[in-house]
Amino acid sequence: MTRTVVQKFGGSSVADAEKLRKVAARVKARRDEGWSLVVVVSAMGDTTDELLSMARRVSDDPPRRELDMLLTCGERISMALLSMALHELEVPAISFTGSQSGIITDSTHAQARIIEVKCARIEEELERGKVVIVAGYQGVSKQREVTTLGRGGSDTTAVALAAALGADCEIYSDVDGVYSADPRVVPSARKLESIGFEEMQELASAGAKVLNAQAVEFAREKGIVIHARSTHTGGTGTAIGAGAVPSRVKGVTSEADVWVFVSTGPAGALLDWLDVEQLKGRTLLADAAGRALAVVPLQDVHAPEALRARLPVGVSVLDDVGTVTCVGTGLNADWSVARRALGLAGAEVLASYASALQLTLLVKRAQVKALTRALHEALIA
Ligand code: ASP
Ligand code: MG
Repeated sequence: MTRTVVQKFGGSSVADAEKLRKVAARVKARRDEGWSLVVVVSAMGDTTDELLSMARRVSDDPPRRELDMLLTCGERISMALLSMALHELEVPAISFTGSQSGIITDSTHAQARIIEVKCARIEEELERGKVVIVAGYQGVSKQREVTTLGRGGSDTTAVALAAALGADCEIYSDVDGVYSADPRVVPSARKLESIGFEEMQELASAGAKVLNAQAVEFAREKGIVIHARSTHTGGTGTAIGAGAVPSRVKGVTSEADVWVFVSTGPAGALLDWLDVEQLKGRTLLADAAGRALAVVPLQDVHAPEALRARLPVGVSVLDDVGTVTCVGTGLNADWSVARRALGLAGAEVLASYASALQLTLLVKRAQVKALTRALHEALIA
């Protein structure tokens, strides 16, 4: 029986015509080995950011439905061009939008969650011997509205399709796998051969851009091993979820692009408001004064200034802070990791959160990089 693989190529791997042709050649080579292929693509290069800034030029707070209509165009461009590039190589290919691929989501525009994948149409085309190209990052709701899955959501498309098709899952990007820290911030960072789902999920939701957090959550639920590899080199990359050996701290990551909403009143009121605004937070912390702090990544807040103007009474925003997160297993076994990390960060820590899998420190944005390096050096390298 032919085996099926879902390969996902990120925005920088399809950034121009030349790169698209390289991806097409890669896909052809895999097909020639006898594989059946579904290829998920992101928008070319910075297209999504460019579309977002175009929207901002006409509206301070665009309706989320229309934003989704706009943003889904990015992936449509890539899918059609890749299909053309494959036809050039005499590989039969067909491109589908998220909705044509049967990716059914809830109706939360801009941050929809996949609830079901009805991939009969993809299966039919695979049986006909075609390579199926799917536009990542998008789906359709039960109300038949076009939705997007949140920034970096093409990874989720790939994992969801691999689960539905019983296929292997490979995610290609500019980096050759998952590192113990961002090598641009921590030069001594090491590539990991494997990492567990839980640890990867924590790293991704704490700011590591190499994989989307929801994609990892999906893979974990469905038991799908994700192979994160480089588009350019032949290495084995990192296997996510493949019997990784637990260790103490596995990686350190950070996120400077966050807003932290602070509640002076009851935390419940803050959470209710975040839900009304459809803001998905990352971590809930408490500071020394006992105030509740919700960390919200800015990438999914599409009109931050409009939001600031709507802050309810008793809620304020910190816009000059960032988080540094250590991820591993058994971090609460004896609290020695937390003690060392807090000791290193000293008085700079504004608030913290610790669990078995992670330790997150909230610090001034200007300190994020230095603290990331210091923690990597002390706890990993
Ligand atoms: N193009 C979208 C983004 O930039 C989705 C993705 O790249 O996965 O967030
Ligand atoms: Mg992108």
